Amino acid sequence: NWDLILYVNLELVNKMSNRRFIVKDMLGQGTFGQVVKCWDTETNDYVAVKVIKNQPAFYHQAIMEVSLLRTLNQKFDPDDKHNIVRMLDYLSFQNHLCIAFEMLGQNLYELLKRNQLRGLKVKYVRAFSKQILDAMVVMRDAGIIHCDLKPENILLAPSVATAAAVKVIDFGSACLEGKTVYSYIQSRYYRYTTAIDMWSFGCIVAELFIGLPLFPGASEYDVLQRMMTILGGQPPDDLLREAKDTGRFFKHVGSIFPGSEAPDGIPSAYRFLSEEEIETRESKRPKVGKWYFPRLKLDRLIYNYPWNNSELTETEETDRLALVDFLKGLLEFDPNKRWSPVQA
Ligand code: ADP
Ligand code: MG
Repeated sequence: NWDLILYVNLELVNKMSNRRFIVKDMLGQGTFGQVVKCWDTETNDYVAVKVIKNQPAFYHQAIMEVSLLRTLNQKFDPDDKHNIVRMLDYLSFQNHLCIAFEMLGQNLYELLKRNQLRGLKVKYVRAFSKQILDAMVVMRDAGIIHCDLKPENILLAPSVATAAAVKVIDFGSACLEGKTVYSYIQSRYYRYTTAIDMWSFGCIVAELFIGLPLFPGASEYDVLQRMMTILGGQPPDDLLREAKDTGRFFKHVGSIFPGSEAPDGIPSAYRFLSEEEIETRESKRPKVGKWYFPRLKLDRLIYNYPWNNSELTETEETDRLALVDFLKGLLEFDPNKRWSPVQA
């Protein structure tokens, strides 16, 4: 029972760690609390301390973060070789669970912003992707789903020699694979798998190259529409049949018959609703996306980036074709066909 072990340990840590951390600076703020830069008087080094809000729900979820990260660090990556943040300690301070992490650098969203959101060179996209995948293979082996992979949760790490390095952080939404969730709406059991992290990873890889989110929708409908435009087709019928919210965005047109065609021309038992039809179902009218983003298919989007007619060198061309191929394996609607971290 992790919870019990952790609570018992916390009492001990509480007694020992009076005034151990001296707050120096603010690093980040989120739903779970704040992350502060501290001076650790025990180790004489800077650490990043995540101070969780002092409410039971957040406290409980943070206990999960601690136990999953402890398993990952100690059992699956004892030598710190797989690009996962190191947890140094945790303690309870005035009902705030505080988790001390090794101090890392900027997150990848900050890096993209620093670069005017124009995207990174392919060699960096490739290097970072490889490192994130390394972490994902370990997470897969541990049966841990991160559930919140995004540029803000990938941090630059002190680089080894001249190579740029990143680490995956924030296991605050993570859970164990194999836990089935019962949906009352559809009276069915759902089993989430690490495949959901692979979809997020695909979105991250594309965003690192383009500099902008791949599906910058203003509403869920808008996001879905962009997914279908970029990926060239709608999710397969089998998936739509199983999905919880299909009815909000698709009309079931019965068996497959002429006239019920998915955007890619393949016959389907589901028809994507038009914006007029959706208005009555979604309270918020879809707004125009925040960024300029051409509605192109994935291959054009990547190959023609930054969407002017400049000539590509031979290397650039090879790189981009490979990137398109890579993204297609990741951004596959069907989780069973989507690449695993090892495949990728
Ligand atoms: P939340 O669950 O609120 O998103 P995170 O763990 O993602 O919390 O931390 C929020 C932000 O704080 C991150 O996006 C990052 O910018 C910063 N941060 C978190 N951990 C570290 C760290 N170890 N070193 C440096 N900055 C960090
Ligand atoms: Mg975060």
